Amino acid sequence: MRSGGRRVDESGAAASSALGDTGLTLAPAEWTLTLHDLTFTVRESARRRTVSLGLERDGALLILAPSGTEAGVLRQLVLSRQDWLYGKLAEKTRLHRPRREREFVAGEGFFHAGRSYRLLLTEKQPEEEALNLKGGRFQLHRAEASRGRELFIQWYSDHLSTWAKEQIIRLHSRLRVQPSSVRVADLGQRWGSCGTGQAVALHWRVALLPRRMAEYVLVHELVHLEHHHHREAFWTRLGVLLPDYAERKSWLALHGAEYDL
Ligand SMILES: [Zn+2]
Repeated sequence: MRSGGRRVDESGAAASSALGDTGLTLAPAEWTLTLHDLTFTVRESARRRTVSLGLERDGALLILAPSGTEAGVLRQLVLSRQDWLYGKLAEKTRLHRPRREREFVAGEGFFHAGRSYRLLLTEKQPEEEALNLKGGRFQLHRAEASRGRELFIQWYSDHLSTWAKEQIIRLHSRLRVQPSSVRVADLGQRWGSCGTGQAVALHWRVALLPRRMAEYVLVHELVHLEHHHHREAFWTRLGVLLPDYAERKSWLALHGAEYDL
């Protein structure tokens, strides 16, 4: 299986250099470049002198390049512009997603830790919280359904806060700088933030994400305690703590918008 995979890579590389040999043709050549889970259409032209990276209106990724540009050069360019690219992708996903109004009615699905659970409306039992996750269902007191959104945000915040504290204990020996506190709040368009005084904050929506992605958001912010920027040293350190961070990052950019209340 492995050697078969390698052969595909080699023929891909050979195809792109063969295109380079036909640099005199005026018709643009097209091929695809895959990096992590992103696929780019590479459009080559003999008239181009520079490489440009962009998104088409439907969100498809496009690279315009001079004829014969090597795949390795394009990969480097994509890696160096990945923050810009993921930002653009996140914008597209948000804009193209129809906003669905929550009704807090029986059978509606709500995410927690990447899984969707159906809602069950219940009668109030003494000593019971208004919202619980048990028996594979979110159980909400019927009389409190009008406060559904507020109760869910509170529930997500409490659970995420507990989870994040456990993670920080687990990571303790691997962190060079320890956070002073972890706060869960509504951070608007940001999944996480790292403020002054070594305080880390997470959006309550992180509770809805698959745990691998929540872990990426948390570790990303923890690395900011050491590196207050997104330069190379930041990504190198993140790569030590989470070797597959790039794959998680692109997943989040592409699918994160679906995880909302
Ligand atoms: Zn950051």
